[in-house]
Amino acid sequence: MTPGNDIQRPEERVLVLAPTGRDALLACELLTQAGVDSLVCADEVELCQGIEEGAAVAVLAEEALHPWTVHALLGALSRQGPWSDLPLIVFTRGQHSSESMLEALGPLGNATILERPVRVSTLVSAVNAGMRARRRQYEVRDLLRRQADADRRKDEFLAMLGHELRNPLAAIRNAIWILEEAGSGEYQDVRQREVIERQTHHLVRMVDDLLDVSRVTLGKIDLHVQPVDLQSVAERCLNELGMKRVAESHELTVSVSTEPVLVQGDPVRLEQVVCNLLHNAIKYTPRGGSIDLTVGSEDGEAVVRVRDTGLGISADMLTRIFEPFTQVESSRKRSEGGLGLGLPLVRSLVELHGGTVEAHSAGHEQGSEFVVRLPQLGSEAGLPVAGVPLPDGEPVFEDRAPLRILVVEDNADGRESLRDLLEIWGHHVEVAENGPDGVRQALDSHPDVALIDIGLPGLDGNEVAQRIRAGLDDDHMALVAMTGYGQPEDRRRALQAGFDAYLVKPVDPEDLSRTLRELTEGREPGLRN
Ligand code: ADP
Repeated sequence: MTPGNDIQRPEERVLVLAPTGRDALLACELLTQAGVDSLVCADEVELCQGIEEGAAVAVLAEEALHPWTVHALLGALSRQGPWSDLPLIVFTRGQHSSESMLEALGPLGNATILERPVRVSTLVSAVNAGMRARRRQYEVRDLLRRQADADRRKDEFLAMLGHELRNPLAAIRNAIWILEEAGSGEYQDVRQREVIERQTHHLVRMVDDLLDVSRVTLGKIDLHVQPVDLQSVAERCLNELGMKRVAESHELTVSVSTEPVLVQGDPVRLEQVVCNLLHNAIKYTPRGGSIDLTVGSEDGEAVVRVRDTGLGISADMLTRIFEPFTQVESSRKRSEGGLGLGLPLVRSLVELHGGTVEAHSAGHEQGSEFVVRLPQLGSEAGLPVAGVPLPDGEPVFEDRAPLRILVVEDNADGRESLRDLLEIWGHHVEVAENGPDGVRQALDSHPDVALIDIGLPGLDGNEVAQRIRAGLDDDHMALVAMTGYGQPEDRRRALQAGFDAYLVKPVDPEDLSRTLRELTEGREPGLRN
């Protein structure tokens, strides 16, 4: 490419494509005299490259516009963002050729035709008008970039916020369990404990939604797909929400089909979908109202309907409520609060399963219905069905031999509350506040289990696990990771580092107890001191 001027900013320059060098140089000279940067392109390849690097206007001579040049130009223009509409100025030979040229240039969009002979003032004013328009386009591009950047930072912030909130929640949850096991049975204490427990439960839900929504946005949700019976999903949700409690405040009707309603899906995520819809129905229906849950198949599709007689939704909000952070103003005042993330999550999860979700309502105070449709699996599949197991009523914390457990955790409240909880269960606990101490204590005292936080300062949990494994002659010590990071990639890395199990904070004490039992069953608890 031959610079027609000393070019400082590519976005301010004019690209010139003319077959005879003389024409092109002349045009450049005229533009230079008018104070405009310009660049002569030898062929369509250089022209397209110039457009990609940045250009204000392209000046083209008719003779240079072969079909392949137009084709290449179309490609280059379509690679620009939606903000772009590059001004093209084309010199034609005369009126007749201008008409056919107009047709040929139609797909290129923003083309101005100048018939030869072109007066200098006409060229310069056409170029100036083009440059002005193009500057605006670049401003729009920059604005879009800044917005996308802010959006990305917001998503990353939300992911980080969700993750950071898990540490304090883990400590609070442990403390609640300790109070339940060891606290006073005084009526007032029990009531206050229940308040803390309920509110913590809300907080955990919101944090989970926040994290899940940012994972969906960042494309980081993996489904663990298997054949699932939606009826057991529904049953599990009703258990989770506490059917008895709901029945005290609302009239609850559950209709399920006599046949299993099979879909190919992730049982945990599907449960999240149905729970979210039921939770909303309860939240947005005043006491005494009715809630119906129906699970069945319609026209070969698996369908879940959640209907309520509550606040209803106005027509203009029916689709908007599936957008993140959207809440209907009137319901906001009356509900227990939320982040406006439940329905966006429901929609994303349903779509990841190849399904759809719709909201229906006749309007304010007229109740609502949410309908989820999923591709149904033929029941002839005869595959083992992974209903989510229902709690079997077995006591979780049965009497068992005490274990020696090392807790490696830098967060003091999290560490001490976990120690108390484990001691209440009868285990012998020692603690370490950082990675190096954790490794040393593990290798000195050979506990049965080490519970290790991943986000430790200095030496992170994965390195701690690696060093412990490297320093041991046998693999009798069970290593359990506890972390706020729940991504499949984090899990894989932890298992590779030598962990036997992986728990995501806030760790549910029941999960912890089950994990301890599974990892140490059949082993001689090593009380070696
Ligand atoms: P949140 O409940 O946290 O506000 P959601 O995304 O679950 O967030 O719901 C978004 C909004 O949709 C709610 O704020 C509420 O205004 C409306 N909405 C959801 N479910 C219902 C329902 N069953 N009845 C009436 N309004 C509802």
